[in-house]
Amino acid sequence: MKLVLATGNKGKLREFKQMCQDEVVPFSDLLGEFEIVEDGDTFAANALIKARTIYEKLGEEYLVISDDSGISLPVLNGAPGIYSARYAGEGVTDKDNLYKLIDAVKEKGLKSTPAYYTAAIAIVSKYGEYVVHGWMHGDVIDEARGEKGFGYDPMFIPSGYEKTLGELDEDVKSEISHRGKALALAKPIIWMLKNK
Ligand code: IMP
Repeated sequence: MKLVLATGNKGKLREFKQMCQDEVVPFSDLLGEFEIVEDGDTFAANALIKARTIYEKLGEEYLVISDDSGISLPVLNGAPGIYSARYAGEGVTDKDNLYKLIDAVKEKGLKSTPAYYTAAIAIVSKYGEYVVHGWMHGDVIDEARGEKGFGYDPMFIPSGYEKTLGELDEDVKSEISHRGKALALAKPIIWMLKNK
């Protein structure tokens, strides 16, 4: 079975490639670019929508993996949450979203506030569907520091660290990240399905 990743997000793809020994191919290599409407109301629902859409187009020879993820701030009642990719509107850049969240933190009069990332990874194959989750807790600050990672990473300081994910090396992020933790749970499932 061939492993396909149901994401067009370059940051996620880079992290998956770094964390997986298996060869993972983005769906766009096989099907070209197209948009998948993510209208679920949880990370898990949206991850399943993405993986099912690609699996239905590719068929039984494929094992499709997707990631739906985002950042949540308790001080904003959980926002941006599942809307993290379009927090600043439709068709915006990661930087637009980052600076909108920085502004939201500033508007609350805060220099820093607790936040957490969530990742739901869905796996869809002819043997069925699975979803696993991972979380990373920390604080967001009222400025962007560093150029590493992607998305909201330049404003996120993981618990136990003093630097943002924009400043920390990517292998540090892989060990502690929401995506790394979810992938650690996904890997035995992927292995089991590939070897059935
Ligand atoms: P999705 O592609 O619909 O799952 O949207 C995920 C969005 O959440 C991304 O566009 C980023 O804005 C944010 N996000 C998810 N994971 C990360 C991460 O590891 N670092 C920074 N931002 C992330």
